[in-house]
Amino acid sequence: MSVVEENLAEVLADIARAEADCGRAPGAAALIAVSKTVPAERIQEALAGGQRLFGENYVQESQAKWPALREAHPKAELHLIGPLQSNKAADAVALFDAIHSLDRASLAKALAKAVQKAGRQPRLLCQVNTGREPQKGGIDPDELDGFLAACRTSYGLTIDGLMCIPPFDEPPSPHFAWLAQMAERNGLPSLSMGMSADYQAAIQLGATYVRVGTAIFGKRSGSQQDKG
Ligand SMILES: *Cc1c(COP(=O)(O)O)cnc(C)c1O
Repeated sequence: MSVVEENLAEVLADIARAEADCGRAPGAAALIAVSKTVPAERIQEALAGGQRLFGENYVQESQAKWPALREAHPKAELHLIGPLQSNKAADAVALFDAIHSLDRASLAKALAKAVQKAGRQPRLLCQVNTGREPQKGGIDPDELDGFLAACRTSYGLTIDGLMCIPPFDEPPSPHFAWLAQMAERNGLPSLSMGMSADYQAAIQLGATYVRVGTAIFGKRSGSQQDKG
């Protein structure tokens, strides 16, 4: 068994334990294996270990890596979890099964246009900047409800859930709890929260997707690209 397969099995066991600990159903939190900057050969190892759901941060990198991987594994599912420029909306709609980083009206507009043209809509999650960090993507929590209404009525987009990346230097649980409240208030079923360091806590607070990179693939070299 490869190291990636071993890591994957460990993370899946941790997820199952966290689900059981808080009385959630097995599989309630889906694992997104975050494979940004990870070469295709190592992604193959995760595929060999049975993993089918992957997350990437960059449209161009995904366009280079995934068409061949998907041909070999037609059941693989690919989510965009990094920031998206409006001029890449059509590429993203063509490539991804879900986009977790919808956070502004200009992007909603570009996505709506791309969706109409493509005749398919990836699942969409709104990213919320729960820490109100200026360098980080995500809509301000105060603007979320209005933005969700605009996505529905002005752009005809169905929004499936919410995503957040808590500030690096704060305990994450209050952010997860807040995001869960916002989702419940707006009747949204999906919650994308929790990374390698804190996915168990996120599962306790209702995550339906956890995004785990380092714990599966090891440390990334180009951590500069991680700031997102
Ligand atoms: C890179 C990244 C992750 C994975 O982070 P790890 O700490 O390596 O598990 C999760 N979510 C987003 C948005 C990311 O950019």
